[in-house]
Amino acid sequence: MKKKTKFIHGGISVDPYTGAVSTPIYQVSTYKQDGVGNFTYEYSRTGNPTRESLEKLIADIENGTRGFAFGSGMAAITAVMQLFSAGDHIIVTDDVYGGTFRVTSKVLNRFNLEVSFVDTSDLNAIKNAIQTNTKAIFVETPTNPLLKITDIKAVSDLAKENKLKFIVDNTFSTPYWQNPLDLGADIVVHSGTKYLGGHSDVVAGVAVVNDEQLGEQLHFIQNSTGGILGPQDSWLLIRGLKTLGIRMEEIEKNTVEVVKFLQDHPKVGKVFYPGLTDHPGHQVHVSQATGFGGMISFTVENQEKALSVLKNVKYFTLAESLGAVESLISIPSLMTHASIPRERRLELGIEDGLIRISVGIEDIEDLLTDLEQALDVK
Ligand SMILES: *Cc1c(COP(=O)(O)O)cnc(C)c1O
Repeated sequence: MKKKTKFIHGGISVDPYTGAVSTPIYQVSTYKQDGVGNFTYEYSRTGNPTRESLEKLIADIENGTRGFAFGSGMAAITAVMQLFSAGDHIIVTDDVYGGTFRVTSKVLNRFNLEVSFVDTSDLNAIKNAIQTNTKAIFVETPTNPLLKITDIKAVSDLAKENKLKFIVDNTFSTPYWQNPLDLGADIVVHSGTKYLGGHSDVVAGVAVVNDEQLGEQLHFIQNSTGGILGPQDSWLLIRGLKTLGIRMEEIEKNTVEVVKFLQDHPKVGKVFYPGLTDHPGHQVHVSQATGFGGMISFTVENQEKALSVLKNVKYFTLAESLGAVESLISIPSLMTHASIPRERRLELGIEDGLIRISVGIEDIEDLLTDLEQALDVK
């Protein structure tokens, strides 16, 4: 099955109990047993048909064997981190999603999970960070907001050599463009809130594995800690996933045009997009993904100018999320990355005048006209 077909016919595409072609929302917590211990479902934290339908679908989509749906991307990432124990050490991408930085450095550290933040686009930096108690490498590629690229296959080989679990946050690329399990990752996580849902109407997270034992362990954590996705939100995610392919195609078409426009605009400085041949990691990205996605960042003269653009756009909604049908715009230095000290931010390349865009599926003419007039405001 090819990808767009899989988004629609993968998982349990027809409800086995009713024949419904849209998995019903099984809004239920408990199930009648035919005799003691004789049941398919027992209790909805452990298993629910709507969530199971989503979990089978996401497993198929990421070419894994088992998927798990959580109440948010952070719940999924936290559950994955709970596979490890006090005293274990994990290497994490240094410009990882802010919530992942926060949960590892402010919550899980209190349970003595040790974390090192490393530039994972540099394989030697990862090698140098491996300690005797290192148990896993967690990477994001591309990253936010500068779209830095990590070589998934190379890190996977390094992880295998050192018997480390390798986890990839695939939120930015989506399974339509990139399948980390095929490249040797052990676990893939997503914020389902972003492209998978795609309509800014659900907060969700997923994790997928292709190893039976790891699947059992993760189900044990999911059931024990309880951060599950409810049936209504599971249904919304299934619904969103059906159009993931066509959304990503349209998003990327628009993004390419927006990138060209920005590169030619006199008021725009640098443009960051993995599809640009001079983008650091472009070649690596091409080797592991079939598309470049819809995230762009670019610089304007200063923060004042950036704020003026944000204020004057009409179709780009000022918002923190990404991956939706509507185009979104934000200023990392004052929003997603405001908690990072300015000096560190500048070291990372996140200038005050950096603007991040998540391109949607509006008509491209409207998006370009909108950016043009917003950049031209004096
Ligand atoms: C949003 C996001 C998360 C967290 O997901 P939530 O659904 O907001 O909890 C994790 N990783 C990346 C890359 C994200 O963009």
